[in-house]
Amino acid sequence: KEIHNTLELRGNIRVHCRVRPVLPFDHIRSLTSESLTSSEEVVHAISDDTVMVNCLKSGMPVQSKIFEFEVHVPQDSQDAVFEEVKPLLTSLLDYNVCIMAYGQTGSGKTHTMMGSFCQGEKVGIPQETQQGIIPNAAAELFRLISEKPEDSHSVEVSVMEVYNNEVYDLLAKDEQGNPTCQRCDIITTSSGISDVPSLTSACEMMLIISNIQKLRAHCPNLVHTESSRSHLIVTLTVSSKSPNALALRRLQNAKRNMQRSTQQQWWSPRCRRANITSHGSSDKLCGSAASSPCLSPLQSPCLSPRPSISQTSFRTRLRLVDLAGSESVMSGVSGAALWEVSCINRSLSALSDVLSALAEQRPHIPYRNSKLTHVLQDAIGDAKLLVMLCVSPTQRYITESLQTLGLGTRAR
Ligand code: ADP
Ligand code: MG
Repeated sequence: KEIHNTLELRGNIRVHCRVRPVLPFDHIRSLTSESLTSSEEVVHAISDDTVMVNCLKSGMPVQSKIFEFEVHVPQDSQDAVFEEVKPLLTSLLDYNVCIMAYGQTGSGKTHTMMGSFCQGEKVGIPQETQQGIIPNAAAELFRLISEKPEDSHSVEVSVMEVYNNEVYDLLAKDEQGNPTCQRCDIITTSSGISDVPSLTSACEMMLIISNIQKLRAHCPNLVHTESSRSHLIVTLTVSSKSPNALALRRLQNAKRNMQRSTQQQWWSPRCRRANITSHGSSDKLCGSAASSPCLSPLQSPCLSPRPSISQTSFRTRLRLVDLAGSESVMSGVSGAALWEVSCINRSLSALSDVLSALAEQRPHIPYRNSKLTHVLQDAIGDAKLLVMLCVSPTQRYITESLQTLGLGTRAR
C-alpha cells in the first residue's frame, strides 16, 4: 500500500537495493571462500532507506558514501523481500508493472528474481522458502485474479532472452513440440499479438519457470553457458474483461472483422521474422509461433495499424527482468567473449541512458538504442517500474557496487 502510494507521489520509478550476505565461496572468481581476502564488509544498511559504502584504505575507512534507497539487508529472507515488493503488484490489474534486477554477476539477481535451487541442482524448481520474485509474483497475480470472480481474466506468459543484442523466444517450439529457442525480432503493433501458452494456474507457471532454467542452459542458439551473460525477460500478460465491457466488445469484434476482411492482404499465416516497425507508442514482441497471424515484413512492414483488439477489455503486463551482469569488460578478453561483453555493456548503458532521460523528464527518451530498451519500452516508460539494485557487500567488489548504486541514483 505504502509503496503504491509513494509511487503515485514520486513518479513511476522506484529503486530498492538488496545487499546479499558474505558467501562461503566466491561466485565470480571461483575462490573457495569469499572470506579469505578483501572480505571486509563495506556496504552497510544504516536505516530502512539508507545504504552507506565505506571506501577503505589499509583496512581503515577513508571516505563514506551515502545512497538513499529502500534497503533489503543481508538477513532478509526471500519472503521478506517479496512482502516489500508485493504492494506494487496490487496495481497490476490496472497498470503495467515491471520489476528488474540490476547488478554485477554474483550479486544476487537470479537469487532475487528466480530463487535459489536445491543444493548443487542448477535445474529445477526453487524450494518454496527460496523462491524469488518471479514465482511469488505469478502466485500473487493468480490470487488477485481469484479475488475478482465477476471479471474474466486470461493470463499469457512469454519468456525471452536478449543475448548479443538479439531477442530469443525461449518458449518457441518446432512442429514436434521440441524447444527451438528461436530468434525473433520486435514489431510494433497496436494489438500486440503473441503466441504463448495460456495459463490457468500458478502451478503451470512454475513448470514453465523450471523449463526456463533448462532452456537457458541448453539452448543451442545461445552460445553462453552462464545465464549471467544474457538478459532474461518473463512477461505475464493479463487480459481482463468486465461483464459490461462484453457487449461493447462484441460490437467492436464485428467492426474488426469487417476491417480485417478488407485488410486481409496485410496478414500472413506465419511469421518467423519481422523487422522493427512502428505504429503508435507501444512496441510489442511478435512471438515466433507458427500459428499466430502476424504482419509480414515482406508484404508490408509499415502499413497502417492492424485492427485493434477491443478497447473495452483491459490488458496489462507484468514484466520480470533478470539483467545480465553489469561488471565492465575484463582485460585479456578477446573474440566472441569480447563481443559478448561489449553487447552487455552497450545494452546496460542504453538502459542507464533511458532511466536518466526519464528521471530528467527529457523530451526524447532513447529507447531505440538497444534491443533491450526497445523491447522493454512499455515496461519502462508506461509502467510502474521497480529497479532492484543487487550488491555484494565486500571490499573486493566495491567498484562494481558503487557503479550499481550510481545507476540507481541517476534513475530517480
Ligand atoms: P547473479 O544472478 O547476480 O549472478 P546469483 O543470484 O546467482 O547472482 O547469486 C550468486 C550466489 O549467491 C548464488 O549461489 C546465490 O544462491 C547466492 N546468493 C545471492 N543472494 C543471496 C542471498 N540474499 N542470500 C543467500 N544467498 C544468496
Ligand atoms: Mg544470474
